[in-house]
Amino acid sequence: MKNLIPDFADHLKTAGIAFDTRNVTPYASDASFLTMGKPGLIIFPNDEAQVLEVVGYASRNGIALTPRAKGSGTAGASIAPEGGVIVITDRLGVVNPFGRRLGLPTPRFYTAAGTEILRDALDSHRNDEVYARVGAGLSTEELDRILLPLGWQCAVVPSSGWSTIAGNFATNAGGNGTPKYGTFQNVVSYLKMVVSRPGGAEVVTVTDRDTIRDLAGGQGLYGIITELDVRIAPRLSKQELHSSFCSCLIDDVETLGEVVGAFMVEMEKVTRPIIAEFMMADKRLFKPGDKLLTHPEIGPLFDYPEGSYKFIMMYQGRRDEMAELASVANRFPKVTFQETGTETFKILLDLRKAATGKSPGRVAIPGFEDIYVQDPRDLGRVLKAIYSITEGSLPGRPIGHQYTGGLVIHYRPLASLNRAEYKLAWELTQRLCAEVCTERYNTVKRREHGLGLELYALSSPAERARLKALKARFDPVGIFQPHLMSESPDIRFVGDKLYA
Ligand SMILES: Cc1cc2nc3c(=O)[nH]c(=O)nc-3n(C[C@H](O)[C@H](O)[C@H](O)COP(=O)(O)OP(=O)(O)OC[C@H]3O[C@@H](n4cnc5c(N)ncnc54)[C@H](O)[C@@H]3O)c2cc1C
Repeated sequence: MKNLIPDFADHLKTAGIAFDTRNVTPYASDASFLTMGKPGLIIFPNDEAQVLEVVGYASRNGIALTPRAKGSGTAGASIAPEGGVIVITDRLGVVNPFGRRLGLPTPRFYTAAGTEILRDALDSHRNDEVYARVGAGLSTEELDRILLPLGWQCAVVPSSGWSTIAGNFATNAGGNGTPKYGTFQNVVSYLKMVVSRPGGAEVVTVTDRDTIRDLAGGQGLYGIITELDVRIAPRLSKQELHSSFCSCLIDDVETLGEVVGAFMVEMEKVTRPIIAEFMMADKRLFKPGDKLLTHPEIGPLFDYPEGSYKFIMMYQGRRDEMAELASVANRFPKVTFQETGTETFKILLDLRKAATGKSPGRVAIPGFEDIYVQDPRDLGRVLKAIYSITEGSLPGRPIGHQYTGGLVIHYRPLASLNRAEYKLAWELTQRLCAEVCTERYNTVKRREHGLGLELYALSSPAERARLKALKARFDPVGIFQPHLMSESPDIRFVGDKLYA
């Protein structure tokens, strides 16, 4: 078959659109550590007009495109098949015409109904749903920096604050704010997208909330998002904020999970946290002599007897909406409640973020990500299964988010930088998936980060029909991510090369 890349590259050169055909190795994988081989062409459009040009050419010539922003997704959704074309979207709306990221853009603000709110009038909308219109390439961390002087913040921020807002929508990400506001499908009210049309491309806008919810988690299947409205929330003062942590120490991990699960069910009935995160306490997070171990509130959390298990939950929310937490904890003799200041809470939250992958000198191997435990009362069984597979093997610890109506668990084995440990870590994640991602545990795989390469393979017949209908509407030419619509996706661990 004719290699279409050289002609595409010539076209891009003539159109003045940046691209690379040589330095492609960094794009062969993403935070999933999966690969389908090296792509053949990476395109870096600066704005919507350039995206239109790229999609129009691909549409006329039947060339498949994979949108990719920061590549922080953990399901392989931003990698292309060997020799394929990747379109980088993290410049959209955040660079000047020369592709330079200069300062932070000034967003416009809108109500849920799409009426513009002037910047100076924002504060009179503290009790309303307010949205910021942002370029696809802006991250939640950047938007938070823009909003800080205005007294506002992003409603939902994943632990990967550097990932783009369009990428978060395309994976239906969750994070801080999700217990109160939902995942990204619930916090976007307007989308602008470049889609394929027979013989070319078109810019479409979507404002219908049902369609937006349907498109969330689309993983680049329907087109390239260039702009979107994302919900923001008033920043609460220290006085308005309740911050606390609860912990539970038991020497049997299954009982521990049962107690914590029952506690979560009860606290959800009477509180409304904005942030609800958890981690298993693990001393291997620290280097010897780490000063956090002597922190008066944090140090004692990690000082517990060998052979027992400790679960730490972190909660933050509006003081009036969290008032009942202490009394719920009091009803559970094994659960300790401690209110804390915002500074200590932030340290603890950073520690929880780092716990995803931190262990000095080791690398966290993804693969057992985003396991949605639909009923917290199943936490005991799930923890027992995780520990019976991983204990005595590589370091690692379950961490996650407590969302309303379920929890999301991640466990990444931590491998030293050598072939044997990479292999062992990957095998552990596969064993964990085979055991825990089953009906027996009442879990759902990757509801939060998207199914990535397994999107079609793991979807029900009804879900497949929904995907196809959206494809026909937004990508009738079928150029966006066609490999995701496969019953038998090509899934390879990038580390295979290391231990082959
Ligand atoms: C340490 C770490 C912590 C994480 N924490 C969380 C967390 O707390 N919660 C959570 O939900 N996820 C989390 N993730 C996963 C990840 O950050 C999210 O999936 C993120 O939303 C992806 O954003 P991105 O900009 O990196 O997109 P990419 O990974 O580059 O792309 C992800 C998908 O979005 C599509 N896409 C990207 N941009 C566009 C666009 N403009 N138009 C159309 N499609 C597009 C791509 O095609 C791909 O399918 C974490 C990941 C890591 C590595």
